[in-house]
Amino acid sequence: MSKFVFVTGGVSSSLGKGLTASSLGRLLKSRGLRVTMCKLDPYINVDPGTMNPFEHGEVFVTDDGGETDLDLGHYERFIDVNLHRDSNATTGQVYSSVIAKERRGDYLGKTVQVIPHITDEIKDRVRRLGTEDVDVVIVEVGGTVGDIEIVPFLEAIRQFRREVGRDNVCYLHLTLVPFLRTTGEHKTKPTQHSVTELRSRGIQPDVIVCRSEQPFADSLKQKISLLCDVPTEAVVTAIDAASIYEIPLVLHSEGLDDIVCRLFHLDGPEHEIDLSGWERLLERVNSTRDLVRIGVIGKYVNLPDAYLSVVEALRHAGFGHHAAVEMEWIQAEEVTGMLAGARLDALDGIVIPGGFGERGFEGKIAASAYAREHGIPCLGLCLGLHAMIVDYARNVAGLAGANSREMDPVTPYAVIDLMDEQLDVTEKGGTMRLGAYVARLTPGSRVAQLYREVTVSERHRHRYEVNPRYRSRLEEAGLVCSGVESKDNRLVEYIELPAHPFWIATQAHPEFKSRPDRPHPLFAGLVEAALERASARTPRLYDLDAVG
Ligand code: GLN
Repeated sequence: MSKFVFVTGGVSSSLGKGLTASSLGRLLKSRGLRVTMCKLDPYINVDPGTMNPFEHGEVFVTDDGGETDLDLGHYERFIDVNLHRDSNATTGQVYSSVIAKERRGDYLGKTVQVIPHITDEIKDRVRRLGTEDVDVVIVEVGGTVGDIEIVPFLEAIRQFRREVGRDNVCYLHLTLVPFLRTTGEHKTKPTQHSVTELRSRGIQPDVIVCRSEQPFADSLKQKISLLCDVPTEAVVTAIDAASIYEIPLVLHSEGLDDIVCRLFHLDGPEHEIDLSGWERLLERVNSTRDLVRIGVIGKYVNLPDAYLSVVEALRHAGFGHHAAVEMEWIQAEEVTGMLAGARLDALDGIVIPGGFGERGFEGKIAASAYAREHGIPCLGLCLGLHAMIVDYARNVAGLAGANSREMDPVTPYAVIDLMDEQLDVTEKGGTMRLGAYVARLTPGSRVAQLYREVTVSERHRHRYEVNPRYRSRLEEAGLVCSGVESKDNRLVEYIELPAHPFWIATQAHPEFKSRPDRPHPLFAGLVEAALERASARTPRLYDLDAVG
């Protein structure tokens, strides 16, 4: 039977519950356990797909087309397991299912209530994840104890332990232990209050993870242990780490995985930890020799979480090349005004990420043109590919006024358009190409060389496509369509320019599949090209040595 860890948070939001849960996942995986993860989100939206990235950050897409919370991205990057749409459940989904059952008459006319119907639905969703091939399910409960919306979830996870047995459940509570500079002390009171709140819902934590800027004295752990009724060794400090990928090592040094495995009786010699792979990764993270500056031309640049997976994929690519990647956030709307200046020239590479709507699109087209004409490495993702196609159509293929129909419904050349099957759909929900699609790459093309494969699968989330009607016009003007959707052979998935150092775009979102120890080939290619540009500009230290 699978074991279940429930991760709750108190005191404040944004303490890094997702990263704590993911790090525990990595530690358990490094002990040879098969781990899966899930996020329960107390908000009412049925999925995060329709939520504003300004408010909620990126929508993470799973292979099976689930539009999920960005924490699932952390889970996948840390435990290196592909999750699915069922790995995320919101209050909205839970209520929708219960209401649908009520409408079908499944409850035989009974009064439908939060307890037991909503809580049963939550428990079912969690239980279903504990399949035969999973040893541990880590469930993160979104929000903070004390929130109104979280109550049914806490009640469900409380009941869960009764049903599956004490030894199969571990409650982990994450809190903040602030340091008051004025008195020079760490304070435990917020933790005590938060645990009291959790207990008032019938949950006694087994482990308390305390976020803290600096390490604190053992006496403080003893105090928390006494007042919150957990063993001292189950009070774990999580001090701020230089890189998120260091957190598993920080938590391991505090004995987190030991405690959890002991609780679950999974502490036999066969579950000895092997962190060597992760330590090697950290060596790479901490031994950067070069620096590249990559400009991200986006619309949501004031909230970099909106591009979380893109940022992580760039970092991973940096790890692979012993390079630190410095992100320069560029508001797409401002690009046209920048063309005369040195800001774009100073970049070693450019990413034009995905997005929706008209705002900033002209700036993305201008960035594409500038990168193309000035030999700046440039990677376009989804909407980024649309911008690059429009740039090429207007400025090279002579299709003046070309555009994406998303931005200009009456453009004379809709080089990016809805496909026939989508034209009659009036509703926006459920009309996107979502999830994994396989593409066939042209043998010998740049993308095939980067992937070292000709059949690749990437995740998608978009409505508009390269219009097949204009493909030959663009190709005659020198654009190479180097990958197409494998089933219909028609939808363009990859474009490139052979003579350019790196001007490549994809209709997919490859950022979702990048892993810290397995950088995505397209991002790795971009960073490599960016490093070349950087070193051509400033001779590296060792080159200077040779000169001197
Ligand atoms: N807005 C574009 C579309 O719907 C691109 C979407 C995206 O970048 N994810 O096709």
